[in-house]
Amino acid sequence: MAELEKGLADFCDSKYCITCCSCTIGLLLSLMAIDLQPGDEVITSPFSFIAAAEMIALLGAKPVFVDITEDTYNLDVSKIEEKITSATRAIMPVSIFGQPADMDEINTLALKYDLMVIEDAAQSFGALYKEKKSCNLSHIGCTSFYPSKPLGGFGDGGAIFTSDEKLASKLRRLMNHGQTDGTYSHQLIGLNGRMDAMQAAVLNVKLKYYSREIEKRQQVANIYTELLKDSKTIIPPKINSDRTSVFAQYGIRVKNREAILEMMRKKALPYAIHYPRPIYQQQAFKYLEERAANYPLAEQVCQEILCLPMWSGVDKTEQKKLVEFIIGVVERIEHS
Ligand SMILES: *Cc1c(COP(=O)(O)O)cnc(C)c1O
Repeated sequence: MAELEKGLADFCDSKYCITCCSCTIGLLLSLMAIDLQPGDEVITSPFSFIAAAEMIALLGAKPVFVDITEDTYNLDVSKIEEKITSATRAIMPVSIFGQPADMDEINTLALKYDLMVIEDAAQSFGALYKEKKSCNLSHIGCTSFYPSKPLGGFGDGGAIFTSDEKLASKLRRLMNHGQTDGTYSHQLIGLNGRMDAMQAAVLNVKLKYYSREIEKRQQVANIYTELLKDSKTIIPPKINSDRTSVFAQYGIRVKNREAILEMMRKKALPYAIHYPRPIYQQQAFKYLEERAANYPLAEQVCQEILCLPMWSGVDKTEQKKLVEFIIGVVERIEHS
């Protein structure tokens, strides 16, 4: 485990890495480490997997959503400040689909209002933001090694990164029942969030090849983007010039998605919808009584997003067939 933690920390140029059993638990431990209290508020994205908002709520705090941008689907930083109150404790940006958010602006706001910034980097391990690695862009970063993530193990796994020594030591204790490793001296109420040794062995090997893996994912993405370049209506992912994506997802946006999906299903063509609805629309968060009208872009992107097969070994001819099929369907719908 120590070898993997050192390898992961070095990969991110982060001082400390604490491996754990999943990103979800990493996010929970991070919120526990900053001493989040019931009634506190944490700002996060409504266009994501539920984990960040869920862990905030699990601790009795309130997830406060900010709408996303139209091009990268990350938090719209121009809308964060209006949501900061005296109860706000932290901002949890999600590096959605593998591309970091506007972290400089987020960190500047955090400094101004004395907030912690915890990056949900479950999808972005290895991505760059102004030459710096995702997971090392704020006070704390958490990532996932779930098999479908860019760096996947053979089962669940995660890691927490920080360069703050105090936070690192607290996170390590919280992860292992609040004790200083193996001493049965428990200073904090924690939990068992340990990574399985089998996952560590797998990840230790896979990490050695991960830079090449990222390049291959980016090549697959570039091929999709090239194939889509003449389409006037299909919107490919936009990656800002000062950062990179590791393409956890390659999500295009289309109008009339349901009609397209119906045709794709008929041909048994692969696709995925990340995400079918904003987090506040989930039954579990109905109690927040959020209004869709306050998040027009999260609503729109959830209606239009369509994710294409994405891993380092996607076959070029399959990509071409798939994109040509989608373009054909889109054109037929437009002319009917
Ligand atoms: C997958 C994912 C998580 C959860 O990761 P686990 O390791 O499965 O707990 C959290 N946030 C985002 C954005 C994810 O995509």
